[in-house]
Amino acid sequence: MKKVASLVLIVLILWSSATVLFSSVSTAESSASLMVIERYDSRRVVVYAIPDTDDSMTNPHYKLLNFHWYSTAKYYVNPSNKYGFSTSDVVAAITTSAETWDDETAYEVFSYIGTTTRSAGRRDGYNVVAWGTYRSGVIAVTYVWYSGSMILETDTRMNTYYKWSLTGEAGRMDVQNLMTHEFGHWAGLADLYDSADYWLTMYGRGSFGETYKRTLGLGDVLGLEAVYGPLII
Ligand SMILES: [Zn+2]
Repeated sequence: MKKVASLVLIVLILWSSATVLFSSVSTAESSASLMVIERYDSRRVVVYAIPDTDDSMTNPHYKLLNFHWYSTAKYYVNPSNKYGFSTSDVVAAITTSAETWDDETAYEVFSYIGTTTRSAGRRDGYNVVAWGTYRSGVIAVTYVWYSGSMILETDTRMNTYYKWSLTGEAGRMDVQNLMTHEFGHWAGLADLYDSADYWLTMYGRGSFGETYKRTLGLGDVLGLEAVYGPLII
């Protein structure tokens, strides 16, 4: 059987930006790729009708990507940063983001292995979360390499163009907020862009100082369970 690998690039869009989902699929000799990019466009201001109160626990909406893990996603964190964050604090924020999903299914979707000096965004056999450089407008990029419906590798690169926070500070992107959303992509969930879905973690726009995506809503959990099954207690 011819082995075909694909890559998905997933980008988080900043709140107050227009809908810009950037998906590209390229096919090389024996591999293809798709990426999801989280974007911010400060030149455009759009008004959305957002529910006044957090309805995430009753909103059942979710959308799936066409692929997911058939094994546990063993991942590494490159904690190198220019924000003064300690390695342990970076690892804590990112592993908490992954565990937030793992806590809702009997399947072990994610397993943290350790720190690495590898960069995110290249297919090297390692699932890596790291900071890296992009132009303005891109908050983070999640790369998903897959074959058929099976994910082979995922990376997320957070853009050093923006300031980051581990505590939801104003004017900064919150690591746990962003990474909980990105691990949703790793798990096989797609972005939601209807403003009615604002309070769900998989809502595809983000903003500075935002932390509500750290906790999953009903639709986020239902999407996870649709792929990996429910939590069995
Ligand atoms: Zn997204």
